[in-house]
Amino acid sequence: MKNITNKELTDQGICPTCYDRTHNHIVFGDNSRQMLYKDADMECFLCGNPRSKGHTIISTEKHYKDMLELPDDLCKKIYIFAKKVMIILKDVYHAESIYLCTMCDGPMNHFHIQLIPRYKEEKRGSKNFTKPRQEYIEEKDKISEIRKKLNWNQKDIDNSHF
Ligand SMILES: [Zn+2]
Repeated sequence: MKNITNKELTDQGICPTCYDRTHNHIVFGDNSRQMLYKDADMECFLCGNPRSKGHTIISTEKHYKDMLELPDDLCKKIYIFAKKVMIILKDVYHAESIYLCTMCDGPMNHFHIQLIPRYKEEKRGSKNFTKPRQEYIEEKDKISEIRKKLNWNQKDIDNSHF
């Protein structure tokens, strides 16, 4: 099957994230090994082309184009969850700080939050948001530690296909 690109979908007015999830991950590829947490409202996974080790994405299951469209209760749930993940990432990756940003600003963006660790040897400041993308290297021990702290089991993923 020919892979459909992000741009082709966007040009057709289709959200690539929603399309990917309902079409067996044909746009971005299967990320279940990077999944840290998932429930009916949101999912949290390690970024496949991280700006730093431990770069994590939290995304809503339903389509909202940005934070302004989020219902307040979901907004609250996601940001409290993000705080929890930040504490865990800081600990597991020994980061000095975790940066949070959300900058959904395209016609077919799907709301997500980015958590980007900053390490001791790195300078503070906004350049951390634009650090070069790196190759994703799987660290199984860290993934299982985070899942454990979030009280989430990979098996749960089988029960959460919608
Ligand atoms: Zn979407």
